[in-house]
Amino acid sequence: MRVVITGGAGFIGSHLCQALHDRGDDVVCVDNLASGRIENIAHLLESPRFHLEIQDIRTPLAVSGPVDAVANLASLASPPGYSRRPVFTLTTGSDGTKNALDLAATHQARFVQASTSEVYGDPAIHPQREDYWGNVNPTGPRSMYDEAKRYAEALVAAYVREGVNAGIARIFNTYGPRMRLDDGRVVTNFIAQSLRGEPLTVYGDGGQTRSLCYVSDLVRGLIALIDTPVHGPINLGNPHEMTVLQIAELVRDITGSTSTIEYRPLPQDDPTRRRPDIGRARNELGWQPKVDVATGLAMTINWNRNHRAVEVGAVEV
Ligand code: NAD
Ligand code: UDP
Repeated sequence: MRVVITGGAGFIGSHLCQALHDRGDDVVCVDNLASGRIENIAHLLESPRFHLEIQDIRTPLAVSGPVDAVANLASLASPPGYSRRPVFTLTTGSDGTKNALDLAATHQARFVQASTSEVYGDPAIHPQREDYWGNVNPTGPRSMYDEAKRYAEALVAAYVREGVNAGIARIFNTYGPRMRLDDGRVVTNFIAQSLRGEPLTVYGDGGQTRSLCYVSDLVRGLIALIDTPVHGPINLGNPHEMTVLQIAELVRDITGSTSTIEYRPLPQDDPTRRRPDIGRARNELGWQPKVDVATGLAMTINWNRNHRAVEVGAVEV
């Protein structure tokens, strides 16, 4: 297959590029480096089966040659990151998704959209199943991301109605090597703070929950969705639910850090609880996560110790 991956220089996208490349596919990575990094894909650049296009997906996608599948991952994804660039985030989800869909339609290619558990907003049902329509504030501080992703889902559904072979993955909180330590998400904040011996910043009372999925599990799910002609939407995530305070304590334990916990105000509209029902992924993709959170966090922490000594400061490696 020849697969186009938008957002391929980002955290999840770079792992997806690598996994598809390693199974023998040709990969075209399209990225404007808004939050991605060349170093994430540097090891692939010498391969004749890997090609990088530096391009903003808000302009029509110029990809020459055959295209068998398009995976649309381009989007800012961390709350501080997308809040800083609200219009860019919305237009990437709207115009950008349309351009990626048009590329797939032109080539009669399979299309996979990276959607998010954020389409459920602060969910009124728990765990979240795909038939739940969500509880999103359309003008709140997270709206540029949530509504971009909801519009993108509607756009994909419209293209499916007009004959495009497309599927939607609703990705729940995913972590692993290559996540930026400075992008403000919970796992990387706690890892960076633990390694630097700084206080761990827990927002609110830390009683809100998230369910953390290791990146290799998520990538297996995305590839299953690329390979299987189902439309979804399909939740992809690890159902093991933890409070944010438990996540802080686990990261601190694994790093062996003596950091204290410092409580900070809870951001507005921060979802109270989040856990995927993955029955549909099990049934339709034969997929479920394998990596438990302690193992995944240990691998992520080790990776950061080995690769990010400069960013984490005076770290004992
Ligand atoms: P990331 O920020 O590491 O990667 C996003 C990539 O998209 C970056 O390389 C960035 O440069 C690129 N990009 C952004 N806007 C672009 C544009 N207009 N044109 C071209 N490239 C653009 O984030 P990630 O965590 O790897 O997320 C990847 C995808 O998965 C996103 O669509 C995100 O919404 C979705 N997702 C991620 C998570 C998670 O927990 N990591 C959860 C739910 C959904
Ligand atoms: N969070 C926290 N401390 C931090 C960063 C995040 O307590 O330094 C909390 C945040 O309030 C949220 C959860 O951790 O409840 C997950 O936040 P993240 O930004 O990683 O992703 P979200 O799931 O909110 O999109």
